[in-house]
Amino acid sequence: MRIALPALATSALVAGLLAAAPPGAAEEPGAAASAASAARPTVKDPTAVGYGGAVSTVDPEASAAALRILKKGGNAADAAVAAAATLGVTEPYSAGIGGGGYFVHYDAETGKVSTIDGRETAPRKMPTDAFIDDETGKPYPFTPDLVTSGVSVGVPGTPATWARALKRFGTLSLAKALKPAIGVAQRGFVVDDTFRQQTLDNEERFKAFWASRQLFLPGGDAPEVGSVFKNPQLATTYTMLGEEGMKSFYEGRLARLMVKIVRKPRTTPSTELPVPRGYLSRKDLKNYKVLNQKPSRSSYRGYDVYGMNPSSSGGTTVGEALNILERYNLAGMTPTQALHHYLEASALSFADRGKYLGDPAFVDVPIGDLLSDRYAAERACAISPTKALTKPTAAGDVTSYDGVCNAPAARGTVDADTENISTTNLTVADKWGDVVEYTLTIEQTGGSGMVVPRYGFLLNNELTDFSTVYDPADPNRIQPGKRPRSSMSPTIVLRDGRPFMALGSPGGSTIITTVLQTLVNRIDLGMDAAGALAAPRATQRNTANVTAEPDFITRYGTGLTALGHKLVASGDAFTSAAEIGAATAIEFGPGGLMIAVAEPTRRGGGSAKVVDPR
Ligand code: GLU
Repeated sequence: MRIALPALATSALVAGLLAAAPPGAAEEPGAAASAASAARPTVKDPTAVGYGGAVSTVDPEASAAALRILKKGGNAADAAVAAAATLGVTEPYSAGIGGGGYFVHYDAETGKVSTIDGRETAPRKMPTDAFIDDETGKPYPFTPDLVTSGVSVGVPGTPATWARALKRFGTLSLAKALKPAIGVAQRGFVVDDTFRQQTLDNEERFKAFWASRQLFLPGGDAPEVGSVFKNPQLATTYTMLGEEGMKSFYEGRLARLMVKIVRKPRTTPSTELPVPRGYLSRKDLKNYKVLNQKPSRSSYRGYDVYGMNPSSSGGTTVGEALNILERYNLAGMTPTQALHHYLEASALSFADRGKYLGDPAFVDVPIGDLLSDRYAAERACAISPTKALTKPTAAGDVTSYDGVCNAPAARGTVDADTENISTTNLTVADKWGDVVEYTLTIEQTGGSGMVVPRYGFLLNNELTDFSTVYDPADPNRIQPGKRPRSSMSPTIVLRDGRPFMALGSPGGSTIITTVLQTLVNRIDLGMDAAGALAAPRATQRNTANVTAEPDFITRYGTGLTALGHKLVASGDAFTSAAEIGAATAIEFGPGGLMIAVAEPTRRGGGSAKVVDPR
């Protein structure tokens, strides 16, 4: 029998942690909420402290679903699947069964961290020049052609991830784990500003497809803030998945329909979007497999940092940057110096990400070298305390390094960063001490824009994560059957074999820097978990400019500019959102104490909950 963690913390400890939290951002949606919405969870608390289990997501319905499962005796994996499925209802533009993701699990009984790679996969018939337009002989423009297309739809991995997670780590059947989400899809959730804005951002794309228009633009407009949005079709799809299992998704009627609409998108006559056709086949769906994988592991100042190995670039890129930073006493530096080193380490590890990272089923990824301390020592030679490196900087040479500084850093090249800010992330822990960190996505906010008719969910456009121009030397070039390189970085940090913190974020390639910066904030810069998440962010992905939130520029712009960093305000071309990431985390204190934290304001604020808020 498994023994639950004791609840021993003193009230002073709890009071201290709460006092350190940033000002609460409890939010109610607009007054237009109907009476029926009163029973629907809408209040968001970005910090919750207590015992017996904890959850943090971007959404109060999803956090409530996980909490319900935890309270009924389900474990972290059960609750994570319940929360993820609920996010598929309430955050349908960020994630859902039409997409993929990465699931990281800590087992308190064995002390082992395991992962599931549920990444979308390129169809077997996808040619290496799939992103070249036959008619023009030139690459499709990324927007609007590639993002709203059949050609960028990969084989979804999320349903299979849920089934595998429950089988390996959970106690519930899929039908039971999906129950809270089915309830939310049937009774509806209260539309907030973020949902309405994301719908409006996608209006042109949703209008291009009959099923998308019908579902997300009822009556021709995005649902009003405060109104109740239901998705009975998705409730039926989830019920089918629970009752009939994976075959009902990867084979049979739904599979045939997905293949049809990807190969010949059902566009409306009024749309002017080009919507290139894709290559998905029934065989691709039937043969799809999630992968059990060893986590990446790096040590940082006495902590063991576990993340996702390729096909995600998250684990090795975060790990390499930490190894570089470990060579410096960041805690003893001024904030400007510490952040300068954070930006430089990040640029250097992104240079290596570009050169070496791809799907390991197709590319030899030198994981051991990238995560070796000696390699980090040599990479750190490029950092000057007085002058920022010229970016892009060149990748290191993993075939020859001795940790000794000699040649100055060479200039490098960098791919255009075509990733967008979307995706969602969740963190769950249970009373036994098991922990799940799970990032899932349909790639762009709104995915491919294509809803599967009668089934109520969006298909991904994840294959846009492949390099858009084919280069035989590029580890992330298109290859049939390959997983595109991801940046998702679900991370679990242990200390002496016990969880210290679990965290992750959405945000395309900024996911990596958000996780890295949050760890630096927490471990080196004296911030508590809530402060580490709330602090303003900047991201340096080996590009000429550092993208930074306006608050970051206000606080650190002058000092960093003097060192040669070129700071530009963040802003996504597609959504014009000026924020980087939307992280969730749980920190673990003594005696079973859990501090669940979410964003106070980004993405409208997140929702942290604990089973026993003492
Ligand atoms: N496609 C991205 C990745 O796998 C995630 C989507 C996003 O966050 O923008 O890294």
